[in-house]
Formats: sequence, structure tokens, C-alpha cells
Amino acid sequence: MKDLLRRWLQAWPASCAVCARWPARPVCDDCLASHGRILPRCPDCALALAPGLERCSRCVESGPGHLHRCVARVDYDHPWSALVARLKRDPAWAAPLARLLADAHGLTDLLRQTDLLAPIPLSPDKLRERGYNQAWELLKALRRQLGDMPPALPGLLQRQAQTANQHELPREQRFANALQAYSVDPATSRRLRGRRILLVDDVMTTGATLDSAAAALLAAGATQVSALVFARTPAPTLD
Ligand SMILES: [Zn+2]
Ligand SMILES: [Zn+2]
Repeated sequence: MKDLLRRWLQAWPASCAVCARWPARPVCDDCLASHGRILPRCPDCALALAPGLERCSRCVESGPGHLHRCVARVDYDHPWSALVARLKRDPAWAAPLARLLADAHGLTDLLRQTDLLAPIPLSPDKLRERGYNQAWELLKALRRQLGDMPPALPGLLQRQAQTANQHELPREQRFANALQAYSVDPATSRRLRGRRILLVDDVMTTGATLDSAAAALLAAGATQVSALVFARTPAPTLD
């Protein structure tokens, strides 16, 4: 009954989720034009770049991490942060967000360098609580949007249950835990040997999650790991 009601509501013209004008698509064209501009981004970490720069200053200083390339569609900011929150409550939001994600600058090139796609997994507890992995929903919706894409394997990476509250641990311990946060199922590891993997997630905050997931895949034999995210947390402003 609940499903029937939801389907009925989805079929009905809805208001724009940002400006509430009606009837419109989930995000109307005006809101897309004012909030969804495609910005030049750092190829290593997907931070929006100032004009004329090829990489962000942080990536120039720290050198490459485990990710080969990183592509994001929007900044994790108004109004997208609220829409990502909706995706975490309702998987139907994967379709409109994937429609936007399909336009991400550099995505076509990234897919050309990809043999296998995988979502960033949730911890077993989180998955039980939410009932679905929003990154996998986004990836499936992107496949429906683009049609021709390399194969995807939802169980490629596994997330270990978190044993302690990360915030209470010293920095070195947090980093060590992050490295152990993901593992590759031995049964699927033969599928990634020598392959170029593209990891998909809804949000990239510091990049630590994606970097440790990439490290686990490289250790298991992948030749290259890149990332595609819907939203990237902007760099803190320095003033
Ligand atoms: Zn609007
Ligand atoms: Zn960067």
C-alpha cells in the first residue's frame, strides 16, 4: 500500500525540490542553471578550481593519493546537501540525481578508462538500518541513464563493522583504521585483478573513505582506481 502510494505520488507532477514551484521536474531548469553549474575541478580530488589552475594547491603539495582520477558533479552545499539527505531517506531520488551526475565534466573520459564499477559499501549495521545503499542506487540509476556502461559489481568491496568511535581515537589510529575499513572478498578478488575500477559514492568529504577503499582494491590487484561522486564538500575558505 505504501509502495502504491509512493508510485502514485511519483507519477504526479511534483514541485521543484529547491524553489517549490509547481509543476516541475524534481529540480527545475532555473534551479539547475543557478545551482548546478559545471565547474572546473581538480582531477585528483574534485575540488572546484580557481580559474587558470590545473590542480588544487593541496594536491600539488601532498602529491597523488591512491585515486587515479576523481570526478564530482556539484559542491556538497545548498541545495544539493538537502537532496542527498533525501536520497538517504528515499531511493527514488537516485534517478534525478543520476540524471545530473551523467553530465559531470570528465565522466565520459573516466568511463573509457574503466573496466568495472563498484559502489562504496555501507557498514552492515547502516545497511540494515537504511534498507539500501544509496551509492548503489545512484550507480544503478546512472546505468539506466547512460545505457552503455562497463559492468558493476555491488559486492566488490566490503566494509568492516566499526569497532570504536573514530572521533575519540588519535589521528594515527584513525588513519590505520581507515586503511582496514574495507576488504575485498576473496571470491570476487579474481574479478578485479588487472582491472581499472571506478568507485561511486554520493558524497566525498575529505576523501579519506575513497582513498582507503582505493588502497584496498589496489592491494587486491586492481591496476587503477578512480572515483565518481555526486557531491564534493568544498574546501574550507581561508580568510
Ligand atoms: Zn526550482
Ligand atoms: Zn585536488
